[in-house]
Amino acid sequence: MSANPVVVDHPLVAHKLSLLRDRTTPSAQFRHLVRELALLMGYELLRDLPTELRDIETPVGPARVPFLAGKKLVLVPILRAGNGLLDGLLELVPSARVGHLGIYRDHDTLAAVEYYCKLPGDLGQRLAVVVDPMLATGNSAVAAVGRLKQHGARDIRLACLLAAPEGVAHLARSHPDVRIFTAAVDERLNDRGYIVPGLGDAGDRMYGTR
Ligand code: URA
Repeated sequence: MSANPVVVDHPLVAHKLSLLRDRTTPSAQFRHLVRELALLMGYELLRDLPTELRDIETPVGPARVPFLAGKKLVLVPILRAGNGLLDGLLELVPSARVGHLGIYRDHDTLAAVEYYCKLPGDLGQRLAVVVDPMLATGNSAVAAVGRLKQHGARDIRLACLLAAPEGVAHLARSHPDVRIFTAAVDERLNDRGYIVPGLGDAGDRMYGTR
């Protein structure tokens, strides 16, 4: 399933992503763009949320209209760059729970190292969305999904902005049940595990730490 990620192919998404890629885009604008992209990505990511019909009165008369049927959601940003996408998704679904996973990648081995985990208790009843702008080696995503499954999650998606083919393949091999939603799949990884052409270090660009 995840060997074929859902690429959210829309001119607004493409334009905002191109602005993100530009090395001269300052942090404040970068954060703003990531939030906007989260709103646009959320549209596809949550397209199949179930709805139920309810009777209401419009100012003109009675109507039977769809409302979200109460599918429970948990958004799980991978700290720290995942936080940038969280705000936009929470704006779309304010009642979603939020779990946090702190995972960094070891600079030498690129292995995922978890340093923080706080998740709601009822993951088995929820659609869990792992949120991380960059699916690069896939090590962090594979570790995050593994941790969610260990806590009972059964219905898991990954929302990112850029994916490398290597990361897509790694996640698909390790967790074929997880669907990937991305704004683009780039060419490859470089020898430091960065996506090429990519946008650089998403966390650093977001928070101005480099
Ligand atoms: N993480 C980033 O922030 N950027 C990359 O290119 C790869 C991983």
